[in-house]
Amino acid sequence: MTTVTLTLLEAGHCVFPEHFTRGRGGLKLARLPATFALIEHPRAGLLLFETGYGTAFFRATRRWPNQLYARLTPVTLREEQLAVHQLARRGLRPADLSRLLISHFHADHVSALGDFPAARFSYWPEAWAAVRGRRGLNALRAAYLPEVMPADFEARAAPLDPAALRPLPPEFAPFRHGVDLFCDESVLAVPLPGHAVGQLGLLVRPAAAAPVFLVADACWHSSAFREDRPPHALANLLFADAAQYRATLHALHALHTHNPAVELVPAHCAEACERHVAAG
Ligand SMILES: [Zn+2]
Repeated sequence: MTTVTLTLLEAGHCVFPEHFTRGRGGLKLARLPATFALIEHPRAGLLLFETGYGTAFFRATRRWPNQLYARLTPVTLREEQLAVHQLARRGLRPADLSRLLISHFHADHVSALGDFPAARFSYWPEAWAAVRGRRGLNALRAAYLPEVMPADFEARAAPLDPAALRPLPPEFAPFRHGVDLFCDESVLAVPLPGHAVGQLGLLVRPAAAAPVFLVADACWHSSAFREDRPPHALANLLFADAAQYRATLHALHALHTHNPAVELVPAHCAEACERHVAAG
């Protein structure tokens, strides 16, 4: 079986009331890291999953109405945390990244896409269709900031093909279908709808370690999939489909219960970040 090297990194964080993201706790602010993943495949080369925050986020949120986004989720990003700088410290140039997989188009996941001029962008077609062409408040309502997108995004787009969905190995039940990115079951893109239209997670088989399931924003805290606990009901206002969100969270809980060997890693969980994120 082919295995890959997986390195989880953090590009900035925001803060938000814990009671809202966790469904319990007080009004104290929780730290929500924005993680991204570097995957090195022995034959196919490098794949980046997400980018975390980028400088484009700050440019895009200077003015009304986007400044609401930055006020609602105050962001801290040190220059050296930018994905490009962290990769440079690992000896990688932006041009070395030929492929970048996007879980969904919320600005905290895509605002450094423009730093990778040679990358093709893969995503679920419905995810892009749901935000493409949105502007102003209409975009903001979907947590999408068109200003952070590279001008040549569509020229470099390589969306996944829904016809490529294949049955997943039974160890990942109840998740049944995914797209096998390298045709060797080492990296599988899995639909996790609800939080955003067409959201994708990524199942990765690192060498000499248990499979890791990067679940993007299907939940915000590890306690959510452990306890099958959704966030505060007000969070439903942010989700594309609250019922689907709940069904996806329930499926993550079932996977965790039936096969705890699979490491579930939410994109913004401080606990998972502490356990898995490498020093930048
Ligand atoms: Zn999101």
